[in-house]
Amino acid sequence: MKPAERMKILRQHMPEQDAEQRSHNFEEVNYGLAGTAASMEAQRCLRCKQAKCIEGCPVGVDIPGFVEALAEDDLKKAADILLDANVLPAVTGRVCPQETQCEVQCIRGGKSEPLAIGYLERFVADWARENYQQKFTPPPPSGKRIAVVGAGPAGLTCAGELAKRGHAVTIYEALHRPGGVLLYGIPEFRLPKAIVDQEVNNLRKMGVQIICNVVIGATYTISDLLTAEGFQAVFIANGAGLPVFQGIPGEQLKGVYSANEYLTRVNLMGAFRFPDCDTPVIKSTQVAVVGGGNVAMDSVRTARRLGADPATLIYRRSRQEMPARVEEVKHAEEEGIVLELLCNPIEILGTTDGWVRGVRCQRMALGEPDASGRRRPEPIPGSEFEIPCQVFIEAIGTRANPLLTQSTPELNLNKWGNIVIDENNMTSMPGVFAGGDIVRGAATVILAMGDGKNSALSIHQFLSNK
Ligand SMILES: Cc1cc2nc3c(=O)[nH]c(=O)nc-3n(C[C@H](O)[C@H](O)[C@H](O)COP(=O)(O)OP(=O)(O)OC[C@H]3O[C@@H](n4cnc5c(N)ncnc54)[C@H](O)[C@@H]3O)c2cc1C
Ligand code: SF4
Repeated sequence: MKPAERMKILRQHMPEQDAEQRSHNFEEVNYGLAGTAASMEAQRCLRCKQAKCIEGCPVGVDIPGFVEALAEDDLKKAADILLDANVLPAVTGRVCPQETQCEVQCIRGGKSEPLAIGYLERFVADWARENYQQKFTPPPPSGKRIAVVGAGPAGLTCAGELAKRGHAVTIYEALHRPGGVLLYGIPEFRLPKAIVDQEVNNLRKMGVQIICNVVIGATYTISDLLTAEGFQAVFIANGAGLPVFQGIPGEQLKGVYSANEYLTRVNLMGAFRFPDCDTPVIKSTQVAVVGGGNVAMDSVRTARRLGADPATLIYRRSRQEMPARVEEVKHAEEEGIVLELLCNPIEILGTTDGWVRGVRCQRMALGEPDASGRRRPEPIPGSEFEIPCQVFIEAIGTRANPLLTQSTPELNLNKWGNIVIDENNMTSMPGVFAGGDIVRGAATVILAMGDGKNSALSIHQFLSNK
């Protein structure tokens, strides 16, 4: 097909579960493209010689390569190309912000809508999950042992890349199940947990050992791993899961959650099935969430599914400045989420017996841009009002958890408590590398995976030089 003909094909739409129906269940919102739509979409790719899309992918997927194989109906080849570069493609095909990574770089995007790379990645990854087990021939053992701290996307990717090079990898994970935020943060309706489990199991099949319920910094220190436990290198990927609170009056009231706790109860511990599971979560008729990112969106959409009406999202800037993905905001509004924009909570109000009964807010106006380049929200005097709610969730960000770093004073940290690394991802401790949110602060799955992959290459180099 000639490029001019390819340019005429319109971008395919992602089929979705009906908005009213899905606002009452935890089943996946996006259904994935059907085979004919995926083939059609794949034909839209121009197979550019200088494929800019690859530059936008932190794990370097050969995008035109896998898309061409898909267009030629060679799904095995498409899956091999994808899996060679990305150990978690069914995950990234669902949650990666492609619109700001590969798709924003897509050359045909200059003239019409970019190729739907994420939809195609998901299609091929799902086909592979159901129909194909990629052949993995273990390389000769290198005799080197590496410890990875944390089984989130950074740790899992690093482990997979090291296993491909013949190293023996052990991941230590603090929780009872591997996956990190993919498991305890991102809800089932965006990323089914069975998919995370399946991609983690593929790593196990490659020989990666995962030991859960081990907290590095408590059970073992980093020094223990390098000495008593006999590892030759360590990769730290323990994320940035410490919740930040606004510091407003009323945060001690019953019914106030951090987004982290709320989502962990529901996603990891299955609280939406209580009493069939052990962990409860307060299901209330009126829920308010403060924040404007993906975490806030996930919290308010979860509350809606648990029966909140209204489920209100409070954000101090306007829609334009919202850091959440455009798709998440669209889905949230379709599900009946009430958006209170240019609005800031200043006090959580309580009943006489200590339960949340509402939140006092004030209206904001946008002033001059601040250090982040976004226009600074400023309170409008006399604009205070109350939003009734029985649950109030704070989703304004997370920081590095100091538990590990406090037990390892040799690690250089920046002023926010994130680990400082050099250009090879090595920390101030020789042989100890780090990546993902613990280095960047809260970021994205694919950036964490890119760090994991680059760190694996650096660790391989470091061990080879030894
Ligand atoms: C609710 C929510 C929604 C999100 N949605 C998206 C999205 O749609 N798209 C996107 O790209 N990004 C999203 N993100 C961000 C993304 O999930 C993170 O940037 C990414 O998971 C970071 O990966 P990581 O491997 O560095 O850390 P994590 O995923 O946080 O994994 C760290 C792991 O280390 C473990 N750990 C912590 N301390 C220790 C210790 N001392 N010893 C042993 N193990 C330890 C933790 O239990 C965890 O399993 C979201 C984040 C949240 C919270
Ligand atoms: S830039 Fe876009 S059109 Fe070109 S190869 Fe990449 S995905 Fe295809």
